Amino acid sequence: MNRIYLDHAATTPIHPKVQEVINRTIHNFPGNPSSIHDDGRKVKFLIEESREKIAALLGREPAEIVFTSSATESINTALKGYFFSQLPKTVTYRSSKVEHHATLHTLNYLQEKGSQIVFEPVSQFGEISKISEASVGLNSFMIVNNEIGTILPQGIFAQLLDRHELIHLDGVQALGKIDLLGFETADFISFSGHKINGPKGIGILVIKSGTELEPLFHGGSQERNRRAGTESVYQIAGLAEAIKISLENQKNTFEHVSGLNRLVRSALLGLPHNINFNSPENGSPFILNFTVSSHDADKIDGEALIMALDSKGFSVSNGSACASGSFEPSHVLMEIGLTDYQAQAALRISFAESNTAEEIESFVDVLDKSIKRMKSLI
Ligand code: PLP
Repeated sequence: MNRIYLDHAATTPIHPKVQEVINRTIHNFPGNPSSIHDDGRKVKFLIEESREKIAALLGREPAEIVFTSSATESINTALKGYFFSQLPKTVTYRSSKVEHHATLHTLNYLQEKGSQIVFEPVSQFGEISKISEASVGLNSFMIVNNEIGTILPQGIFAQLLDRHELIHLDGVQALGKIDLLGFETADFISFSGHKINGPKGIGILVIKSGTELEPLFHGGSQERNRRAGTESVYQIAGLAEAIKISLENQKNTFEHVSGLNRLVRSALLGLPHNINFNSPENGSPFILNFTVSSHDADKIDGEALIMALDSKGFSVSNGSACASGSFEPSHVLMEIGLTDYQAQAALRISFAESNTAEEIESFVDVLDKSIKRMKSLI
């Protein structure tokens, strides 16, 4: 059975050209970049060349690009590094409750350590509509919400810039997908390799030149003392290639995926299953979140539906997150006002250039049959 992958917001397969670069780098660059001999110097050169390429693609300076192990590490570094740089002052942050757990759990930890957090409210579709009067040290917001696709409004970003407070943006679901439109000027930005057909286990933290930030790791002087530890050169080279390819293809991919999103939205509305969209129409077309059978009187088991789709070859995600071994309704869906049931019966499908209209039609057909079968068993 050919599987149909509709979970690109979770991760993406490695692009064949990225794979080629990784294989070549593993084979040809065995040295440690900190060694002063020829083998070491060659690796160091390749890392700096990759950093320059990435900086040029992102419109930043090479010295502003720090390689990390993941966007989770990048976010932790920005939020905790700022905290440590400000001690013993009370550190203040502004964010929202629909952020990724990498941000929310880090902020919870920092709150336990004495920080103060202002959480701005969000609308029915997870959009921040205004920034409160409170002044803070560091703001942290996602450009694109990974569960529902909501995009940080330009007007809100402009208001943050006017405040002259530091800004960290989580750009994971935006890079190579939507136009960054000025967001790339933020003081800190986190990106991840594996969401753009690059390697897993590599991320970037962009740090504006001259910004004070304590490192999380201590040891060697790698990454200009921003992040100790021997660099993963093959992942760095692979990441540079993945960013290049995703930005080259961004416009075409965006148009293709927008078409798929429109197609699936109208096909789902044609089904007799009371489907409600949890994603805004003006959000990222790469992510569509919806609740099946959205009335409590007409319940369907979301987990069972995911498993039914899985058994038919479809990889999709749901509105729950596995926390401490049990499935909890998604904090994002709860924050935008869904009931426990509506969150648990939510599905997230997320697209890529490789998905086709036929795959979408087949998904809608199988979804329809699976729901009918489940309802006939109740
Ligand atoms: N931020 C967002 C918006 C994400 O979607 C993800 C991954 O799901 C992360 C952060 C964490 O990225 P990583 O897997 O590189 O740690």
